[in-house]
Amino acid sequence: MEIAPGVHRIDGINGSNSVLLVDEQMAVIETGIPGNGDTIVNYIKKLGRSPRDLRWILVTHFHHDHSGSDAELHELTGAHVVAHQNETVAGPGGKLLLRTGTEAQGNQAPFWYRWAMSRSGQYRRVEVEYHDTEVQEVVKHGDVIPVLGGVRVFHTPGHTPGSLSYLLEKPQVLFLGDSAINNLDRVSRPMMWDRPKRRQLDASLRSLRELQAKVACFGHGPPLLESPMEKIRALTDRPYDLPTWRIVLKNWRTLSRWRASTRRPGHWGAPG
Ligand SMILES: [Zn+2]
Repeated sequence: MEIAPGVHRIDGINGSNSVLLVDEQMAVIETGIPGNGDTIVNYIKKLGRSPRDLRWILVTHFHHDHSGSDAELHELTGAHVVAHQNETVAGPGGKLLLRTGTEAQGNQAPFWYRWAMSRSGQYRRVEVEYHDTEVQEVVKHGDVIPVLGGVRVFHTPGHTPGSLSYLLEKPQVLFLGDSAINNLDRVSRPMMWDRPKRRQLDASLRSLRELQAKVACFGHGPPLLESPMEKIRALTDRPYDLPTWRIVLKNWRTLSRWRASTRRPGHWGAPG
């Protein structure tokens, strides 16, 4: 589905959304869980284009449900995997690898919450098999990817240390990865169990307040096609710098919906 000129949300992807930016040299933002490589390549072919025209695989953050098909898509097309330095680790032979992990790792719910959920049968462990994903290009805040007239890179840490948001400058389309999500019937912040990380995420979202994006895309949930910045600005108007027990109480209904959403394919035991 074309959500803005040249901006295609690819159908049939498992895990996060995957968006193709169609230009002479193309870019894809996020690839979902492993196994989506062929779906993305077939979409490119359906547009009458060659998979070799895909030049960049833009990582918003390393989580498995967003970057799972990066390595296979690189194999299929030769496109470069592009990420922030903080999402990478040194691999063998001087290679740079994407970190591995799911939403739950490094974002573990407190013991009392897990205990309460396991008592009600709502806590679920998911085993994930990881593979290496080589990163061919590192980008930093302010860099511009030369696709569709320019995609500007914003370093928006909090959800992960190297989380990136991307802004297509014309028309203005903002890609937020998991810095905000839209799969719970409203725009919300991902659940961060660690208070300093909640503060960091909010500082990142505040840094985007002045943008005039006309469309916003999320790692999870449909895009917002009208006045998205009002909703994104409103996020930081609600306090997030509170003790975790108060966050849980205030957001009990959202957390229940979120636990239900993690039962869909590609969602792994913690907010997507
Ligand atoms: Zn994530």
